[in-house]
Amino acid sequence: MIPFNKPYMTGKELWYIAQAHASGHLAGDGAFTKKCHTWLEQHIGSAKALLTHSCTAALEMAALLADLQPGDEVIMPSFTFVSTANAFVLRGAVPVFVDVRRDTLNIDENLIAAAITPRTRVIVPVHYAGVPCEMDTIMEIARRHRLLVIEDAAQGIMSTYKGRPLGSIGHMAALSFHETKNIISGEGGALLVNDRTFVERAEIIREKGTNRSQFFRGQVDKYTWVDTGSSFLPGELVAAFLWAQMEEAEKITKQRLELWDAYDNQLAPLEEKLLLMRPKRIPECVHNAHMYYILLRNLESRTKAISAWAKDGISAVFHYVPLHNSPMGTRYGRCHGTLPITSEISERLVRIPLWLGLAPQLEIVVDAITRHLNSDS
Ligand SMILES: *Cc1c(COP(=O)(O)O)cnc(C)c1O
Repeated sequence: MIPFNKPYMTGKELWYIAQAHASGHLAGDGAFTKKCHTWLEQHIGSAKALLTHSCTAALEMAALLADLQPGDEVIMPSFTFVSTANAFVLRGAVPVFVDVRRDTLNIDENLIAAAITPRTRVIVPVHYAGVPCEMDTIMEIARRHRLLVIEDAAQGIMSTYKGRPLGSIGHMAALSFHETKNIISGEGGALLVNDRTFVERAEIIREKGTNRSQFFRGQVDKYTWVDTGSSFLPGELVAAFLWAQMEEAEKITKQRLELWDAYDNQLAPLEEKLLLMRPKRIPECVHNAHMYYILLRNLESRTKAISAWAKDGISAVFHYVPLHNSPMGTRYGRCHGTLPITSEISERLVRIPLWLGLAPQLEIVVDAITRHLNSDS
């Protein structure tokens, strides 16, 4: 069986974990966490990077920092993972779902302005598949309406938009290091703070509402309860694992891009025959090969394809059930328009295996896809 995902290990993870173990500092914010923070701040250019347990936790921190009141509205795509919405629903906010673009499957920036009401507070662009949203337009809309932009960059590490790293453009951003992402620590994430006005409070919220970080820097002489907060920081063993991955972030991205390009070249003839559609390349953007997806004709052909490929030993998966159709989305969210592209894409999209080490088997995947689609047409 060729799995859909296989976590890549650099080989140094256990060595760094052993170092953290030997150092005796196992709680958060030790030497390895600091290395990861510095790496993120240098590579992405954020004012502050803070490791979290997950991207979900980072989004929850961002929602706390945005100071949302019940009934405030947050504009986001419906074609995304649940955490994009859940983090804000936890604060009593209303997700307002906007349709996506047909080429990138990212939020359609041209639909955002019309979705804004007096209650709108935040826009959450999700960089699907590590392909950048149209950030210049989104930031300009936010500036005009005095809204915050919180990038869901869970899939976006090492991608750039007009030369700028994803996660560096909004007021805040959230990264994921879940084992299905490009750079991993099992479960893990980071909050990136680009607007300096949020830095101090971000540290406090992450440290159970205390000014512990200021205390350790000698900025206050005792630490105490100063705000609401929770425990959002991972322990050092997780940070040590993550550090091994960050050291190889460039190599990992390069190898993923090689696999992505191989799929893209080898599947081109099927697109010419109109048997599938490949992801579009977007000018001025560099993606990170987070995923390779294809679009099939409709739900029926996708269902048939996934089971045919499974018989050939290839694991392919689909996502997302659009949030606006989910039990929680219908109860807590609101749609801007009817989201026809979201509904259509969610029935046609399938993700195929993409992981470091797949190269020798990539042709098996392409052959199975080719054989099935040629015979099914
Ligand atoms: C993976 C993902 C998340 C959640 O990340 P976790 O680290 O698992 O919490 C959120 N949003 C998007 C778009 C994702 O792909």
